[in-house]
Amino acid sequence: MQASGFRDTGRFMLRPARPGVYTPTNLARLMRCLDPQGNIALPIRTRGAASASTDCNQSPTGTVIQTTGLNRIIRIDTYNHTVTAEAGVRLGTLVSELAKQGLELIGNHEQMERTLGGALASPCMGPGIGDRASYLSSQLMQAKIVTAGGKIMNISEQKKHLLNAFRLSYGLLGVIYEATLQVRPISTFSASHRSLCVDRFSDIVDRLSTQDVGLKFYLLPHRNRVYVDVRRYQTVAGNAYETPWKIKDWGESTVLPHVFKSLNRVIPIPSVRYKLIDGISAATYGLVNSKLVNNGNNVAATGRRRRKKPRNLLYSTWCFPATDFSLVVKAYVDFCQQTQQNNGYRCDMPAVGFRVSKDSSALLSPSFDEPVFALQTTSTQQRGWDDFVIDLAQFAENWGGTPLFSQSRAFRAEHATQNYSTRLDFFRKIRRQLDPENRLLNPFLAQSFA
Ligand SMILES: Cc1cc2nc3c(=O)[nH]c(=O)nc-3n(C[C@H](O)[C@H](O)[C@H](O)COP(=O)(O)OP(=O)(O)OC[C@H]3O[C@@H](n4cnc5c(N)ncnc54)[C@H](O)[C@@H]3O)c2cc1C
Repeated sequence: MQASGFRDTGRFMLRPARPGVYTPTNLARLMRCLDPQGNIALPIRTRGAASASTDCNQSPTGTVIQTTGLNRIIRIDTYNHTVTAEAGVRLGTLVSELAKQGLELIGNHEQMERTLGGALASPCMGPGIGDRASYLSSQLMQAKIVTAGGKIMNISEQKKHLLNAFRLSYGLLGVIYEATLQVRPISTFSASHRSLCVDRFSDIVDRLSTQDVGLKFYLLPHRNRVYVDVRRYQTVAGNAYETPWKIKDWGESTVLPHVFKSLNRVIPIPSVRYKLIDGISAATYGLVNSKLVNNGNNVAATGRRRRKKPRNLLYSTWCFPATDFSLVVKAYVDFCQQTQQNNGYRCDMPAVGFRVSKDSSALLSPSFDEPVFALQTTSTQQRGWDDFVIDLAQFAENWGGTPLFSQSRAFRAEHATQNYSTRLDFFRKIRRQLDPENRLLNPFLAQSFA
């Protein structure tokens, strides 16, 4: 960081700041990046692992603060079951260090390359079992923030409303420098698997969504198949071997995208190509998952491998009320089939969904009022994707979908405003107080948060 030490007195002209990416390695440097006296290009956006699919972590004409240099785990408290770490620590590193002490993160989170700060400031959700186990941010107890004005602010559970606003705040209220989370002893769950047609899944999803289970599924809309993974805690601690989970993770997140990308290149006839692609997906989810992984815990089930986001892996996630999901899932299948018929585009990867329990611990929680299903549409097919996500956003809007500011592509700001309603108004008020000069607001976020 080369912030100028001079004040702009008007007698000497400061050269206009150039856009740039800074990677501070300690608190003092982070504070200097945000110091209003520093000659830094605005707006300033914070970036962790950059795994969000929207422009929430971008500032092409301003400054990006890349937090990956802030990578120290400060303290693991094995007595009170807490961990304190800097914001740039990767989730994979955190999970490994906690496991050495017999501890795990609460909730079932994958994508181990993401950073702690990114996973607290934007939805990091998974099929957690039980209440308040869906979002990592629900476990945030304390945070040290550097404000838009370059000052330090400490927030804790004593300032409950402020802490709630900082969870899922997309870096709009300040930069999280350090965070303390609640963790817990490693616990074993069982994972049972079923393969169902979409109608059958739609029949049982209501019942499943009210049970105290972790529910995840993989949906192949063009093959009328849903692979369901239901997780429950075991009363007797069983064995949770890591290798099968690692193989599963490797298959899903590395092998499939690469194989599909190659098939898209070498097989020009769509009907042949997609038959093969769906066959490979069905074999992976039907056979590998159900035969391989039966017991797990939140350490093993992460796969723990830190990998780069596969290039060209595109995704968009929307949340739908759980009460409507039996209808939404059928409508989604129709939507995918219609889209392919009308303009030839279809996703090659299965859609992934999971239930997210009702949780009001974050002001901008997408499941603030009721449980929801997160539905993540994923593809390696770049050509046609941009039009597809516009249609998908329209579909989601028609079905009462809630957008995520970091993961829903092509949502309309008016729709987000209606959906988050008074909570968004309240968040905006806090934002204006903490960042009156809009230093942290880029044009993409300004559409919803100005
Ligand atoms: C293939 C794939 C699958 C995914 N699957 C899931 C999934 O199953 N569930 C899920 O919830 N997400 C999923 N994601 C989304 C993504 O991993 C999350 O959005 C993640 O939490 C972002 O973390 P990050 O470190 O990459 O943050 P970034 O993308 O870099 O930033 C995200 C937001 O957080 C802000 N931010 C980052 N660091 C800080 C900080 N220190 N202080 C303040 N603000 C900060 C940024 O400004 C930005 O607004 C997936 C992503 C990919 C690529």
